Amino acid sequence: MKILKTTKELIDYRKNLTCNIGLVPTMGALHQGHISLIKESVQKNDNTIVSIFVNPTQFLAGEDFSSYPNRYEADLKICSLAGVDALFMPCTDEMYFENEPTLLAPMKQSYILEGYQRPKHFDGVLRIVLKLLNLSKPTNAYFGKKDTQQLFLIQNMVKTLFIDTTIVPCEIIRDEKGLALSSRNAYLNENEKLQALNISKSLKIASKELMRGELHVNNIKEKMREVLKELDVEYIEITNRKFEKIDIINLKNSIILVATKVGKTRLIDNMWI
Ligand code: AMP
Repeated sequence: MKILKTTKELIDYRKNLTCNIGLVPTMGALHQGHISLIKESVQKNDNTIVSIFVNPTQFLAGEDFSSYPNRYEADLKICSLAGVDALFMPCTDEMYFENEPTLLAPMKQSYILEGYQRPKHFDGVLRIVLKLLNLSKPTNAYFGKKDTQQLFLIQNMVKTLFIDTTIVPCEIIRDEKGLALSSRNAYLNENEKLQALNISKSLKIASKELMRGELHVNNIKEKMREVLKELDVEYIEITNRKFEKIDIINLKNSIILVATKVGKTRLIDNMWI
């Protein structure tokens, strides 16, 4: 596996490839969620590039940018064992410049839900993803449904900026108890881990209600709120696939999204219906 630390190294590496390329952008501290994206890419492409970059522009002041988990050695091993061809690990100065045009995510879909709690977060996400796509020019790029709003905004960017890459959505990977895997789970103590299980439990309750025939958003949100009552809930929302709020669930195209704080750690989860 090649380790590429500069943009020049990535550009030169890419120039020599004529095959199908899969890109998996990450911020490191890799877990089975990331590994599932990597495996999908390795299976479907001749060459897989993984990037590890903790992107400063997507963090708000006071968030965990400077304390974000870093597991360089373990990440290297995981990528190598998973059959990754190149690992791109640039420093911030490689990726950002003093004077550069910026990209703004569409207001309507980026200042609600995650973007309401984290204004400008998605501007930073799109900026870095665009740079990574331009550098590696992948045939396919893999993103998790775990960050479902991010996934939609990236799909929209690729479509509207005519970028020649297919965005491949990947299923959410959970631990055996149902907790959606996240690099930030590393911040949780034992008690918080138990509390965090209520997040996926609330989605399971929603699913049960749906199976009983309940389609009223307010009733389902109420049931979910009961399960999450011990936690500091930031939002429970049910939307269509354009992230517009709905009153009645459409069984073909709705999404249930949750964000809560568990102790000091902010966790998100969702379920596509
Ligand atoms: P991150 O390192 O948190 O920026 O995540 C990198 C990619 O992995 C993103 O596309 C995430 O949506 C995806 N991802 C993170 N956690 C999971 C998970 N539990 N299941 C599936 N994909 C995930």
